[in-house]
Amino acid sequence: MGSLDGGGWVTHLEGAIDGAKIPAGTLQTLHEGRPIVVRYDLDGIAKAVDRDRVMRRDPTMWRYRELLPVEDNANIVTLGEGMTPILPAPRLGKKHGLDYLYIKDEGQLPTGSFKSRGQSTCISMAKELGCSAVVVPTAGNAGGAMAAYAARAGLEAHVFMPRDTPEVNRREAVLCGATVHLVDGLIDDCGRLAREGADANGWFDVSTLKEPYRLEGKKTMGFEIAEQLGWQLPDVIVYPTGGGTGLVGMWKAFDELEALGWLEDTRRPRLVAVQSEGCAPMVEAFHAGERHARKFENAATIASGLRVPAAVGDFMIMDALRESRGTAVAVEEARIRHWMTEIASLEGITLGPEPAACLGAIEKLAADGWIEADERVLLLGCGNAQKYPHAMPDV
Ligand SMILES: *Cc1c(COP(=O)(O)O)cnc(C)c1O
Repeated sequence: MGSLDGGGWVTHLEGAIDGAKIPAGTLQTLHEGRPIVVRYDLDGIAKAVDRDRVMRRDPTMWRYRELLPVEDNANIVTLGEGMTPILPAPRLGKKHGLDYLYIKDEGQLPTGSFKSRGQSTCISMAKELGCSAVVVPTAGNAGGAMAAYAARAGLEAHVFMPRDTPEVNRREAVLCGATVHLVDGLIDDCGRLAREGADANGWFDVSTLKEPYRLEGKKTMGFEIAEQLGWQLPDVIVYPTGGGTGLVGMWKAFDELEALGWLEDTRRPRLVAVQSEGCAPMVEAFHAGERHARKFENAATIASGLRVPAAVGDFMIMDALRESRGTAVAVEEARIRHWMTEIASLEGITLGPEPAACLGAIEKLAADGWIEADERVLLLGCGNAQKYPHAMPDV
């Protein structure tokens, strides 16, 4: 039985590929080589707490307390993450023929990206489950975020990243006291080394979707979007897709809100997964009608968070896109810096290359008529431009 304003509402974990029931309360990684998700007593939560109570709490992602996996409030590791603004982008919208374009500015989160949401939950769970060391492979922002939360929790942290990961991402992890291992390869190579380190040393491996809890933090974006829009959802959400945690997480959040009866209007947004043509495995799989993606060879993009050639949750991304009647778009790599400058110079919102790629998708989908002028379109601004000085224009 859960507690009001607290945890204890998790009923079990579940294999995403086959629905198998898996016990909560112990360390879990993958099931059948595929992700594990957290399930809650949603009927119990609906009876214990209502939207209005949630809305009176502090404006952080932990306001959705009953819907997060940590049992004991004392184990919550927080840097005040969450409740990022949804900003209207009228000049940008006008340029692309859209009347209602919005940007959710996740660059305002601790360490400058939405990775802090997932790290807040998984590091809290690492603490609750008694781990003393954690490890993560990263293509960019996850390493710094993990290092920050591990420092906050007093845990030992190991980060595996490609040698050519942007300088800020390398340095921020060292700054927060992590041991940084540079790898000649891509994030999947880092993932293998992280797992070997975890097996050999008993570290908790918090790779994207290879443990159940980062997804829970990322899903709070979905809760916030609903709450901020008066418990209804936009028509289209455009999301820069690497491993897909945010996209899959938002879809899970909408399922949970619907089950709780908290949505005023249960119409769902169409989800758009955006990648660069330099690394577009999900876009290829979506348009080929596949549920699993082929590894993308020679992945290269300035949008480092999208440089993910293979994703263990590929089928979860495909299912969410198709259920939502959404789509997947690969944008021109050479124009990503242009879109970055366009967003910042028209709206003053300084976003990194991953969300900038989303503007490329919006440009295309609006021109094709897939998005109509009067639809409410939300661009997920997952990270801050200042973490990518190499992608910003010089004087
Ligand atoms: C990690 C990251 C992404 C991709 O997120 P996934 O959950 O892996 O799909 C997009 N943008 C930024 C800025 C990121 O750091």
